[in-house]
Amino acid sequence: MSIPFIDLKTQYREVEDAVRSGIDAVLEHGKYIMGPEITELESKLADFAGTRHAVGCASGTDALMMALMALGAGPGDAVFTTPFTFMATAETVSLLGATPVFVDIDPVTFNMDPADLKRKIAKVKDEGKLRCKGVIAVDLFGLSAEYEALQQRARNNGMFLIVDAAQSFGATYHGKRTTAFGDVACTSFFPAKPLGCYGDGGMCFANSDEMDKLLRSIRVHGMGDDKYDNVRLGINGRLDSMQAAVLLAKFAIFPGEIEKRNEIATRYNELLADVPGVTPPTVPEGLESVWAQYSLLAESSEHREELMGRLKAADIPSVIYYPIPLHLQTAYKSLGYQRGDLPVCEGIAERIFSLPMHPYLTAEQQETIVTALKTAC
Ligand SMILES: *Cc1c(COP(=O)(O)O)cnc(C)c1O
Repeated sequence: MSIPFIDLKTQYREVEDAVRSGIDAVLEHGKYIMGPEITELESKLADFAGTRHAVGCASGTDALMMALMALGAGPGDAVFTTPFTFMATAETVSLLGATPVFVDIDPVTFNMDPADLKRKIAKVKDEGKLRCKGVIAVDLFGLSAEYEALQQRARNNGMFLIVDAAQSFGATYHGKRTTAFGDVACTSFFPAKPLGCYGDGGMCFANSDEMDKLLRSIRVHGMGDDKYDNVRLGINGRLDSMQAAVLLAKFAIFPGEIEKRNEIATRYNELLADVPGVTPPTVPEGLESVWAQYSLLAESSEHREELMGRLKAADIPSVIYYPIPLHLQTAYKSLGYQRGDLPVCEGIAERIFSLPMHPYLTAEQQETIVTALKTAC
């Protein structure tokens, strides 16, 4: 029996009855768009996320788009972010005509390095071509970014802070959920994320009433008091009732799943301690990850190739997140970055790879995986 990278089937068996009755309820009441499930989900997840407001939307990408639109990012604006993330983080900035400015990462947490953010802000100010408008921090692999430092840097420079919590819903930074930081925090319910639905979905979190109102308007084509009164430009960014029903069913078991993910990560760390040449992930003091991915470092790209080859020979999946940093993507050629511009990120991208990770991974499966890593083909 092969080991899945993420086991959504076993999870479905856990929630099957609740999912089916939730979907049935939607089919019966017929409010497929903006049904009562949306309000219930927004209220429950805002409580969990540690914010006053939550606004469901169609994807994590739309959540970022809505946040950037609400905060007024546009042409002439620099938005500082990490190159070591999924394309959507920077793509939404560019789609609004603003310019992503990439900041190097910390070699241990793989998240934005606050010291390099300081350097990049100074550089943009020095060049005088772009306004320093905002920061999008990403909690890569489910681990919180350095919010104390990032929040301070953003505030001191009059910039907004958006938290891209697409991979970290449920993670904490010194006792507070990552979604409680920033002017707006955005998450994704793509099936493979820590809390996923059975299609696309996302959510924005915010504390200010003003921001909540803006996000709700942007979600539905910039509507005012009436649906056909458009007071600004917006998008069709709604979450649908069926996905909300799925999320309500899955959210009931989510806290238990976070605990299991942490037990599994601890077991990986212990098992990997005697595999020479690999560096298991480190979680800084005071932070709790939700382990969207369990990612480790090989010694070099050749060593990584060898290790991934051993897993493949044993029919065990492994994946590279992310092989090409955003500043080196073809789509961003026009920004003019060169190899060597963000050396920490480029070095990590050559050595990193991820092992199977989900709450239903057994101790035996983990032993099989680590044994395969140690066994030369
Ligand atoms: C998945 C992801 C997104 C986009 O979410 P979608 O729901 O797929 O649109 C954005 N940022 C990060 C860091 C992600 O991992």
